[in-house]
Amino acid sequence: MCGIVGISGIENAAEQAYLAMYALQHRGQEAAGIVAFDGTTSRSHKGRGLVSEVFNAETLSNLRGNVAVGHVRYSTAGGNDLANVQPLTARFSRGDLALAHNGNLTNHLDLRARLVEDGAIIRSSADSEALVHLIAKSRHYGVDAQVDDALSHLEGAFSVVMSVGSTVYAACDPRGFRPLVLGRKGAGHVVASETCALDILGAERVRYLEPGEVLRIQDGRVERLRSLRPAQPHAPCIFELVYFARPDSHIWGVSVDRARRAFGRRLAREHPVDADAVIAVPDSANSAALGYSEESGIPFELGLLRNHYVGRTFIQPQQQDRDFGARMKYNPVQEVVDGKRVVIVDDSLVRGTTSRSLVRMLRAVGAAEVHFRIGSPPVRWPCFYGIDMPTRRELIGADLEISEIEAKLGVDSLGYLSLEGMTEAVAEAGPYCTACFSGEYPAPLVDVEKGLASPEGPRRC
Ligand code: 5GP
Ligand code: MG
Repeated sequence: MCGIVGISGIENAAEQAYLAMYALQHRGQEAAGIVAFDGTTSRSHKGRGLVSEVFNAETLSNLRGNVAVGHVRYSTAGGNDLANVQPLTARFSRGDLALAHNGNLTNHLDLRARLVEDGAIIRSSADSEALVHLIAKSRHYGVDAQVDDALSHLEGAFSVVMSVGSTVYAACDPRGFRPLVLGRKGAGHVVASETCALDILGAERVRYLEPGEVLRIQDGRVERLRSLRPAQPHAPCIFELVYFARPDSHIWGVSVDRARRAFGRRLAREHPVDADAVIAVPDSANSAALGYSEESGIPFELGLLRNHYVGRTFIQPQQQDRDFGARMKYNPVQEVVDGKRVVIVDDSLVRGTTSRSLVRMLRAVGAAEVHFRIGSPPVRWPCFYGIDMPTRRELIGADLEISEIEAKLGVDSLGYLSLEGMTEAVAEAGPYCTACFSGEYPAPLVDVEKGLASPEGPRRC
């Protein structure tokens, strides 16, 4: 997953992008980059690590101009190469181009093979590079038409922010998998993955991009270009609401906090239990646990603490203890847990490894009973649209019965929110993509169908 931002017509645009990326850091911690344009020259700075590690006052002040594009990256396989760090840049006939992409194209290997056949030299393994080539080689007249033409060849999930010279383009795939919001600050504009990025800039929210929409932003004007194949059914990713987005954000007009509380309340109705305390797996499940507590009347307690300073650069000592990874991150509060029947709420269950460790930790400080509740259905299928999920084999919910998962986790009971419960709780922005839970993929998996990609799922943003 990734976070993206575009700034148009605001002084020191790179600084604004930096702040926005700071707010979007939860969407990707592996690498960060900003490209700024000052009317004649575009300059870029990128690197591996957190936004605060990649940029300093000097690198930022070198990125001059009132147009900027920024990206925070979350990736796994093939991803550590600096060539993959976005924004991708290119010089082409119409000016300098910078591109930041969130999502995953499902036909990029197919596109890539065709581009290479046509003589393109591909520099990265990022799926987004295909878009750069498609724009450059489009035979349509004018940049707007070239951008539009290039986007129409993409399949899968893409929210894109791009600058060509001093023009900023923002686009969303025809199903609207990934969020993108337009904001205004003074005479300028901001486009970002989530509203928390507008908040930090003091930008006013204008509206959410619609599926298939392509915007062109320049000199304080926002124009809507032709929409991309508007006939596609909408499929925003429900996992954004479950886990990915920040609770203080709104995406697609839905408050992430309200969505998670609604999941928690439904969960309490679907899987009630007699207990003394509701505790969250912080921070991602805080809102869902509050919802469970509100609905059930069981008090919400701070029973697990999370260390926020466990970073990527942490040196893992040689610990034999199998729970060590989770213990670095979480610690129970004995005074809250000892002798209590606890309901522990998490937003999702993926591999089950963290959960198993947490259950052991709670029992070690005296929990009388441990009831696990999950604010989403079992994750059973890989995501081809940008969420980094392990392979099916590693997913604890893929094939096991509830009783088998209960035994694996060592809990007294386990309850998942139902698929209907989840989608009904946030019906206002639906229907959604629920592929990781349901196995129903709204956008064709072109590369998989052509035998170019593994059906096990991609592992890249
Ligand atoms: P598990 O217990 O299955 O090992 O881990 C579940 C936890 O993983 C949950 O707390 C959930 O918030 C978190 N999670 C879900 N999806 C992702 C993801 O894509 N990346 C990361 N880093 N954590 C995730
Ligand atoms: Mg979590």
